[in-house]
Amino acid sequence: MTDELEHFIGGERVAGTSGAYDDVFDPNTGTVQARVPLASAEEVDSAVRDAAEAQRTWASWNPQRRARVLMRFLELCNEEMDSLARLLASEHGKTVPDAKGDVQRGLEVVEFATGIPHLLKGEYTEGAGAGIDVYSMRQPLGVAAGITPFNFPAMIPLWKAAPAIACGNSFVLKPSERDPSVPLRLAELFVEAGLPPGVFNVVNGGKTAVDSLLLHREVAAVGFVGSSDIAEYIYSTAAAHGKRAQCFGGAKNHMIIMPDADLDQAVEALVGAGYGSAGERCMAISAAVPVGQPTADALVEKLTERVRRLRTGTSFDESADFGPLVTEQARKRVEDYIALGVAEGADLLVDGRGFRMPGHEGGFFLGASLFDNVTPEMRIYREEIFGPVLSVVRAADYEEALRLPSEHEYGNGVAIFTRDGDSAREFASRVNTGMVGINVPIPVPIAYHTFGGWKRSGFGDLNQHGPDSIRFYTRTKTVTSRWPSGRKEDASFTIPTMH
Ligand code: NAD
Repeated sequence: MTDELEHFIGGERVAGTSGAYDDVFDPNTGTVQARVPLASAEEVDSAVRDAAEAQRTWASWNPQRRARVLMRFLELCNEEMDSLARLLASEHGKTVPDAKGDVQRGLEVVEFATGIPHLLKGEYTEGAGAGIDVYSMRQPLGVAAGITPFNFPAMIPLWKAAPAIACGNSFVLKPSERDPSVPLRLAELFVEAGLPPGVFNVVNGGKTAVDSLLLHREVAAVGFVGSSDIAEYIYSTAAAHGKRAQCFGGAKNHMIIMPDADLDQAVEALVGAGYGSAGERCMAISAAVPVGQPTADALVEKLTERVRRLRTGTSFDESADFGPLVTEQARKRVEDYIALGVAEGADLLVDGRGFRMPGHEGGFFLGASLFDNVTPEMRIYREEIFGPVLSVVRAADYEEALRLPSEHEYGNGVAIFTRDGDSAREFASRVNTGMVGINVPIPVPIAYHTFGGWKRSGFGDLNQHGPDSIRFYTRTKTVTSRWPSGRKEDASFTIPTMH
C-alpha cells in the first residue's frame, strides 16, 4: 500500500483535494513509497488565509515567549533526531549520518532564532534635537512563504522558517515534492512545542502551488532555494507583485590547490566535499583546480586512487560514503553529463556509470566519477551536474586559478588549500563569490553569520540566516518624538534639519 501524504494547514494534517498527486520514491529501491498531493490555488489560498489570521495573535506574543516555543521545538527535534534522519534518508537517499547533519544544521538556525528578544532590539538616539528622541523598531511582515529544494529537506525549511516565525510572522512552506515527509513532521513538532495552529503551514505541490503563493495578496515575502532559472523566475515574479524576495540558485564550487598545499589533506577534502551526499549539495566541490603542472600530476594520481576506493551504498549502510541519487531522472541526467564530458574531450579517469547495488538493482545508484583535463569551454564545467562527478581543471598559475571561479556564472562557494596565509588572504579578498573556505572545503557559514551566493547563485540583496534573516523578515519603523516641555512652537515652513 502506498502512503498518501497530506498538507499541514491550521495546525493539522489535511488531505489534498485537488486530485493531483506526485510520486515519492524510495531511492534505495526505486519503488514508489508515497503519493504527495499537489495543492490547487484554492488550497494555497486557504493556507495563506489561515496563516494571516494566526499571525495577528502570534505577533502579539512577546519575543521571549516566542523564543520559548523554539526552545521546546529544539528539544523535541533532538529527542527525535534518529527517526527524523531515517525518514529523511528514506526519501532523499543520503546516508543516515549525513541526514542527521541536515537536521542539525537546520536546528542551529533555530538556536540562533531563540535569541530573538535580543535580535529584535531597535536603535535609539536620545536628544537628536531639542527635546527630540529617535528610535526604530523591527516589526514582522505578516505571512512569509518558503519554497525549498529536495537536497536539504530539513535544513533549508528551518533556515527559512525559524527566523521568520521568531520575528512574529507566520509561514507557509512549499517543500520539494521529492521528499516532503520531514517538513510535515517538523510542522507537527512545532505545534507540539506550543506554536499556535496556523503559524507554520506546509502546502505540498508543484508550479501551481508556487505560482499561487507568488500571486497571493497576503504573502509579503518569499524565500526560495533551488536551481537558478527557477530562482530568477521566482525573484522577478515576487518582486513584480510587490513582495520582498531572496532566491538562491545553483552552483559550481571550485577548490584551488596551491603548490604548497598538503596534498593528502586536499584529497580527503575533495572526496568528502565532492562526493558526499552523492554530490547533491549546493556547496559540493565540483571543480578541483590544481595550480601548476607538478601539483596537478601529483594531485590527480592520489585523487584517482582515492576515488576508486569510494563506497556507494544504501542510505542505511553504515559503511557507505554516499547513497543513491534522489530520482531515476536525476541519475540519468548525471549519466548523460558523463557521456557529454567524454564527447567534449575530457579524460574520464574513473567511470561511475553502470554501478549496480546487489539486492537493490532498482535503486538510483551511481558510482563516483572523476574527469581530468576539463576546460572552461566544456559544458560539464559551465553547468551544474549535481551528482557524484568531480572535474579537474588544471590552472597554469595562481592568477588563472583565481579567474576560474571569479568568471564562472555561478558564485556560491569556493575554497583554497594552501599553507601560505598571505596568498589565502589575498584570494579571499579578490575572488568573486559569496562564500570562501581557507583549507575548509565546504564553507557553509555558521548560523549567526549569513549564507548566500553571488551572481547566478543568489538573487536579492540579503542572505539567509544570521543578522540578514532578521532584516529580511522584518520591516523597520522609525519614530521621531518630541516633548516640547511647554515651550510655544510656531509653525515651521522649512524642512526640519539638525543644527
Ligand atoms: P528545483 O529548482 O527543481 O526546485 C526547487 C523548488 O522549486 C521546489 O520546491 C520545486 O517544487 C519548485 N519548482 C520547480 N520547478 C518550478 C517551476 N517551474 N515553477 C515554480 N516552482 C518550481 O531544485 P531542486 O532540484 O529541488 O534542488 C536542486 C537545486 O537547488 C540545485 O541547483 C542546487 O544547487 C540548488 N540549491 C541551492 C542552494 C543555495 O543555497 N544556493 C541550496 C540547496 C540547493
